[in-house]
Amino acid sequence: MEKSREVEMDLARVIAARGWIGITVDPEYGGMGLGHLAKTIVIEEISRVSGAMGAMVQASQLGTAKILHFGSEEQKCRWLPAVSAGSCLPTIAVTERETGGHVLGMTASAVRDGDHYILNGRKVFVGNSHVGDLHGTVMRTGLGSTGLSAFLVEADSPGFSLGEHEPAMGLSGFSFGELIFENCRVPAANLLGEEGDGLKVAYSSSVLYGRPNLAAVSLGLHQAIVTRPSSSPSGGCVAAAR
Ligand SMILES: Cc1cc2nc3c(=O)[nH]c(=O)nc-3n(C[C@H](O)[C@H](O)[C@H](O)COP(=O)(O)OP(=O)(O)OC[C@H]3O[C@@H](n4cnc5c(N)ncnc54)[C@H](O)[C@@H]3O)c2cc1C
Repeated sequence: MEKSREVEMDLARVIAARGWIGITVDPEYGGMGLGHLAKTIVIEEISRVSGAMGAMVQASQLGTAKILHFGSEEQKCRWLPAVSAGSCLPTIAVTERETGGHVLGMTASAVRDGDHYILNGRKVFVGNSHVGDLHGTVMRTGLGSTGLSAFLVEADSPGFSLGEHEPAMGLSGFSFGELIFENCRVPAANLLGEEGDGLKVAYSSSVLYGRPNLAAVSLGLHQAIVTRPSSSPSGGCVAAAR
């Protein structure tokens, strides 16, 4: 991965097939039904070997969280079993290039059109952008903090496309790229929660799952740095320091 710096599609699928994306999902929906401690250990252990794949697992868990917390029974039954089985990788797409962490500054929009919404705009730095199947996208449907709404956008939706994958400084093999919506039609049934719940959806995913998940990725990386035996014949930096 470090050499090619390309998105590791197949490895993401192999890891997801272990059921780890659905580790906190209730067994009723095919998940492991384990808690946040188990989730943390899984992310930490994968990150100890590959930060990119730890980031992959944690990113789709953010996408899963919003369905768990805001999905209707119908949406849970439709998507959570596939997430738990590893055949559906969900994402959460909030960030925009011009506004970054200022979530309320977003301009990408969704407008109701009969039984559908029409989505326009772009999202950047979306974890699992290029391997994801179901993008949980927060869009502006009105003004102010109650003017954001969240939608489940299937990757084969008309009007949806991906920006070119650009390797970053680190996490080679992980995709966190651009989603493009050009008159993208999404069924109104794919609205998560109510219109106006978008900010709550964004923050619940990032606060309940995102912050502890990223701490677990960091912990795994640091464990690798501290415990990795030196491969150099002279014993490397650790031996030199002794
Ligand atoms: C590996 C990776 C994965 C990611 N995955 C996702 C994802 O799955 N989905 C998603 O939606 N996003 C994702 N992001 C985006 C991430 O959430 C954003 O990077 C983050 O929200 C910050 O936005 P920014 O990078 O544009 O920084 P900025 O918003 O430009 O902020 C940069 C710095 O300036 C500070 N700052 C900004 N505005 C102000 C102000 N008005 N006053 C004082 N200080 C300010 C901030 O606190 C910060 O320290 C990911 C990013 C990375 C690097």
